[in-house]
Amino acid sequence: MEINKRITQIRSEIPSSVSLIVVSKQQSVESIKEAYNSGIRDFAENRLQEALEKQEELKEYDDISWHFIGHLQTNKAKKVLENFNWIHSVDSLRLAQHLNQIIEKISASPYICLQVKAMPDPDKYGWLPETLWEDLHELEKCKNLMIRGLMTILPLNLSTNESLHAFQKVQTLAQDINEKSSLFLKELSMGMSNDYLLAIQKNTTMIRLGRTIFEPKR
Ligand SMILES: *Cc1c(COP(=O)(O)O)cnc(C)c1O
Repeated sequence: MEINKRITQIRSEIPSSVSLIVVSKQQSVESIKEAYNSGIRDFAENRLQEALEKQEELKEYDDISWHFIGHLQTNKAKKVLENFNWIHSVDSLRLAQHLNQIIEKISASPYICLQVKAMPDPDKYGWLPETLWEDLHELEKCKNLMIRGLMTILPLNLSTNESLHAFQKVQTLAQDINEKSSLFLKELSMGMSNDYLLAIQKNTTMIRLGRTIFEPKR
């Protein structure tokens, strides 16, 4: 009941064009079913093993889109490619090239977001804008990858203005890449429980919400 109410409330706060991805990491299959029954079809997980177990239990819910949002080690890449519809966390050229190679041998090819950092942050994976420009040409050569957007996680404890500025930076980066390369980054995967309303002001297309749905404080 609580989950259903939170989802209804969040839907009323966001444009209908924005995808609401429910981050179900560490949540039970029962909780996922509750969100599903509230109309959610997009779920995100950050650990492969945990996700595979849930997917097995939820086999009959075959219209779910699964999103991988965790740091991806190359030895798990094949399984993630085979079991997810989206990978938001492609965070290095080496990983992108590895995925590009594997896809040739398997049939599945999920949509991909490149993970970027709006500012230096030693705790996070991903490209800084400058380093993404350096790797862009090699990324364009990864023809098997369906690269569709940028994903970002903001550092903790930014002010409202700093968060808006950071989201703006990511939005501008995507636009610049669209103008100057062969990539077309239609999606912006940005906005979590703390900052999704700010991300919406900066034209996010996918928000990834966990705590505010499963552990609401209000
Ligand atoms: C956990 C996680 C989220 C959800 O964060 P909340 O603060 O619980 O909304 C979103 N994106 C990524 C990459 C995460 O790891």
